[in-house]
Amino acid sequence: MSEHLIAAAQAAMRNAYAPYSQFPVGAALLARSGKVYRGVNVENASFGVTVCAERAALFTAITAGERAFEAIAVVAETEGPVRPCGACRQALAEFGTDLRVVMGNTAGEISVSTLSVLLPAGFRFKRR
Ligand SMILES: [Zn+2]
Repeated sequence: MSEHLIAAAQAAMRNAYAPYSQFPVGAALLARSGKVYRGVNVENASFGVTVCAERAALFTAITAGERAFEAIAVVAETEGPVRPCGACRQALAEFGTDLRVVMGNTAGEISVSTLSVLLPAGFRFKRR
């Protein structure tokens, strides 16, 4: 399963829009439905508007009506497997922290963890 997701993330990476950083990233999010949603980083001349690959995949899946997820794979050309940024960890945690996170790079190195390990004390919205 990890290899399939990593392959989907790496295929998506080709469509990344990263003219400023030259750092293309691809992600593939496996929903509980069995469908896989791909995402890429989309940069902008106004840097703060840039969206990461993981959130692009998540937002596409949410738009399609998905709410439950099994795993996400993310790939970039990094030394060692790429790690999701804090904002993406928080965004993904909205839908459960038992998510499997498969991190890879273009050299084929893979590291697997869970969102609960990567974001041990994320923000939770609870009214008093
Ligand atoms: Zn991110």
